[in-house]
Amino acid sequence: MVRLFDSFDRPVNYLRISVTDRCNLRCIYCMPLEGISLMAHENILSYEEISTVAQAAADLGIIKVRLTGGEPLVRERLTTLVAMLAQIQGIDDISLTTNAVILERYAGELKNAGLHRVNISLDSLRSNGFHQITRVGNLDDVLRGIEAARQAGLNPVKINTVVMRGINDDEVIDFARLTIENEWHVRFIEYMPFSNGDEKADGLLVPVAEMKASIETLGELTPTLESGGGPAKYFRLPGARGTIGFISPVSEHFCQACNRLRLTADGKLRPCLFSDKEIDLREPLRQGATADDIKRLIQEAASCKPEGHRLKAGITCERFMAQIGG
Ligand code: SAM
Ligand code: SF4
Repeated sequence: MVRLFDSFDRPVNYLRISVTDRCNLRCIYCMPLEGISLMAHENILSYEEISTVAQAAADLGIIKVRLTGGEPLVRERLTTLVAMLAQIQGIDDISLTTNAVILERYAGELKNAGLHRVNISLDSLRSNGFHQITRVGNLDDVLRGIEAARQAGLNPVKINTVVMRGINDDEVIDFARLTIENEWHVRFIEYMPFSNGDEKADGLLVPVAEMKASIETLGELTPTLESGGGPAKYFRLPGARGTIGFISPVSEHFCQACNRLRLTADGKLRPCLFSDKEIDLREPLRQGATADDIKRLIQEAASCKPEGHRLKAGITCERFMAQIGG
């Protein structure tokens, strides 16, 4: 199998594909209340164009793709894209990151089209807390989405929870407790201080070590063998059916294991989430680039991956998270 490496010899086998910058929520850490200035429809890659990029990436050794956004489920006929990606030889894992607000409607058809699993973002188990964070969301919609994903067999269903001091850090224990009785896989994520977010970055960060210490009041956290190949480290509480993962982009760098490229909805390949360097694929795609041309651009993007980021120092990105694809 062809393998793609960056200039620090890290294998690159994972492509995150943003299908839209639109979203039906306005999470305080991701988007301003009034929304963002949206990409023109004609600037957004068609499913055929995304599929061409994914095929070229698979030829180079990409084996995993994840659909994200914005909120990927607000793009029409997402199931069609999933079915197209499922046809590509070499891609053996297709997943989706979603806020699950409308997942109940689509879980079954996404599974039938070839989606393997979902990560669901959920930052509060309390109706008012959920509404405070998402500004416009309804918790019950998400809970029904989680149940629909489980019933459709989109397993393992992982829950991603961004922990913010003074906002939902008092719920870490509640989320952790849920993994005892339920086969929930909860991953706690450190808040990343994007300085273009609407919320003041200062003081919101809760380091993973602090989350762990509070969860350990429920019992000892034993490391599990599961790695998932990503940045999370997984643990289990005594007798728990589910697992607890921690992702610490700020307090502990995991850049040395970074294996991903990001494709934005408007067709830019982004070598690193935290660097504004981008390589345009849209114009070449629309001007008749061959598969080999696209592969060369993907290789160029891989070779531009920086060694690491300095997130601790705070980060300024030209784009909002929803415009990059988190
Ligand atoms: N709308 C989908 C969702 O929310 O799952 C997919 C896109 S969203 C940008 C992807 C992930 O990025 C979500 O899990 C969200 O919590 C996370 N995210 C966005 N801004 C963040 C920030 N400042 N710090 C940490 N995580 C963030
Ligand atoms: Fe939308 Fe996801 Fe950003 Fe929340 S985190 S505003 S759901 S894109």
